[in-house]
Amino acid sequence: MKFDYDVVVVGGGHAGCEAAAAAAGLGASTLLITADLNRLAQMSCNPAVGGIAKGQIVREIDALGGRMGIIADTTAIQFRMLNRSKGPAVWSPRVQSDRTRFIDEWRKVLENIPALRLFQDMVVSFIVEEEEGRPVVKGVRTALGFEFRARKVVLTAGTFLNGLMHFGPRQIPGGRISEPASKGLSDQLKELGINTLRMKTGTPARIDARSIDFSLAERQDGDDRVEAFAAEFPGGEERVTLIERDFHKFSFLPNIGRRLNPRSCYIVHTNPEVHKVLNDNLDSSPLYNGQIQSIGPRYCPSIETKIVTFADKDSHQLFLEPEGETTSEFYINGFSSSLPWEVQLEALKKVPALRDVHFYRPGYAIEYDYFDPTQLTHDLSSKLVGNLYMAGQVNGTTGYEEAAAQGLMAGINAALSVKGEEPLILGRDEAYIGVLIDDLVTKGVDEPYRMFTSRAEYRILLRQDDADMRLTPIGHRIGLADDARYDAMLRKREERDALIEWCGRFLVKIGDDINASLESLGTAPLTASLRLAELLKRPQLNFTNLAAILPKLRKRIQEIEEERRGEIVEAAEILIKYGGYIEREREQADKARRLEYVRLPDGLDYHSLHSLSTEARQKLDRIRPATIGQASRIPGVSPADINILLVLLRN
Ligand SMILES: Cc1cc2nc3c(=O)[nH]c(=O)nc-3n(C[C@H](O)[C@H](O)[C@H](O)COP(=O)(O)OP(=O)(O)OC[C@H]3O[C@@H](n4cnc5c(N)ncnc54)[C@H](O)[C@@H]3O)c2cc1C
Repeated sequence: MKFDYDVVVVGGGHAGCEAAAAAAGLGASTLLITADLNRLAQMSCNPAVGGIAKGQIVREIDALGGRMGIIADTTAIQFRMLNRSKGPAVWSPRVQSDRTRFIDEWRKVLENIPALRLFQDMVVSFIVEEEEGRPVVKGVRTALGFEFRARKVVLTAGTFLNGLMHFGPRQIPGGRISEPASKGLSDQLKELGINTLRMKTGTPARIDARSIDFSLAERQDGDDRVEAFAAEFPGGEERVTLIERDFHKFSFLPNIGRRLNPRSCYIVHTNPEVHKVLNDNLDSSPLYNGQIQSIGPRYCPSIETKIVTFADKDSHQLFLEPEGETTSEFYINGFSSSLPWEVQLEALKKVPALRDVHFYRPGYAIEYDYFDPTQLTHDLSSKLVGNLYMAGQVNGTTGYEEAAAQGLMAGINAALSVKGEEPLILGRDEAYIGVLIDDLVTKGVDEPYRMFTSRAEYRILLRQDDADMRLTPIGHRIGLADDARYDAMLRKREERDALIEWCGRFLVKIGDDINASLESLGTAPLTASLRLAELLKRPQLNFTNLAAILPKLRKRIQEIEEERRGEIVEAAEILIKYGGYIEREREQADKARRLEYVRLPDGLDYHSLHSLSTEARQKLDRIRPATIGQASRIPGVSPADINILLVLLRN
């Protein structure tokens, strides 16, 4: 047994699994230590991956050579592309996954990485030594008395650090239901100067499908059901047979796709009776009686918060989501609660479809420690403690995808650092992952941070459809994305560009048939022949409905390899329709990027720069931005302060 590693990852959640896979994938000898190997990448809350902005992150993880997308695909029981009725900048893929298979798949992936070892134990402290007056982590100690030396340690302990669960008035220490909390690590880091704070989150009850009256619930299928897609989108059925087949997945790798049978979700609604039960018992909610003090995720409010905040609404939607391909367990999305279980049960029974509801387990809330992410640099290493990287919920974020993205980057950067190479830092115009990390280290957090498309200023550059073209070259350069993935991306790009070029050449000739068809699609008839690329720019038209009226286009689309047809057609359509916007945003991003190249000296004494505002001096000294670009995004540093810094640097 080996006790000395390049990289030790503490915690096998979404962040830890990606970190370990990335570090070992880059050749660093890596050990992943986690409290329970049977719960690797456990989905603590809903059994779903992706969604708005999060789906883009999963595609970015995949493009860089991370694993979350592949595992979500192989364990998916439902796929949906959200926001399809809006512009492509905000289209977001989402899957329901089988919770247990997700864990099994992760284990299979990790056990097949040669440079990676797994170990089940609780890390209780870091081995810290002083080097040049600075604390430096040299390894970890475990509860069972093991000591592992490491050149880099990545901490990804999630909601476990001093975790305290709330089931109504019952408070139980733990990191997740039936799992012990992690003690000791945050106290040690606090002593080393790391700012340690508290947050909270919560989860709803899980219930037995056999106790749900599905005849009183509304069924919701995934996009991968032809009839569902056809009902929702004009020409949907045609699109599925021509374009969308095998298009329901996260990963850009060919031959990866859903292996499990699809299952439906269901929608039910709360009603005034439900709200009355909840209202009558608000004083027993830890959120409202002072038992919980810390701040929770604003956009995943508990049911009690919803009825207080939106007191005028007498109904809220609840999604009943299956937890797997075969299980009877259902998750009640929208009913997160820390009320006593008796109240949760009584309230749910007032929903007609749930009048006989049986709990597998009640909902609960959890409070946990996190660390101020402004004490990290962009490579996710600590500014205060040498060799220490942090990723996931411990940095104040919430969500599996946010955690996995940070884990991937921390794992990559720990391995690159071991090799003596430059860190990988993604720009805000390159990836949502770049936006996420820059927001964390520059602005910090005062509530659990989750990604939204609105956080990205260059949304149209960060689309889900071209994450592979944006990031696979980077993943390939550092050695994480293999040649096969890179070649597949190059082939896709060639096919996309060839299709765009073909559309630029193809002349749609004026004719009675064409004009009648165009009019039936709600768009003006042709008065002269027109290039197909120009015609496609009309909002009413797309490849699907045009392929139905232009046999040559249909034939051209059918020539594209079936496996990639959907992706290629979608990517070409977006570039043709939105090329102008994309170019304009690219120019703005390039202009802003210039400030990212203006570096600020490491030891700059901001307090001596009296022409800066007091607030700017304090904030700049605390965050110590690496570049003028980063400084310009710190809240409280004004454009006038930035101009002063630029003048000072020029002088
Ligand atoms: C009750 C609950 C409700 C949630 N609700 C939501 C929600 O509504 N929306 C949302 O977006 N997110 C929610 N989350 C958060 C979501 O689960 C996390 O964002 C995500 O799992 C974070 O991933 P992570 O890898 O950072 O940590 P985790 O998934 O928490 O994984 C941490 C891992 O580290 C291990 N570990 C911890 N300490 C040690 C140690 N000292 N030694 C060894 N191993 C250790 C643990 O066993 C675990 O495997 C919820 C979490 C919980 C617990």
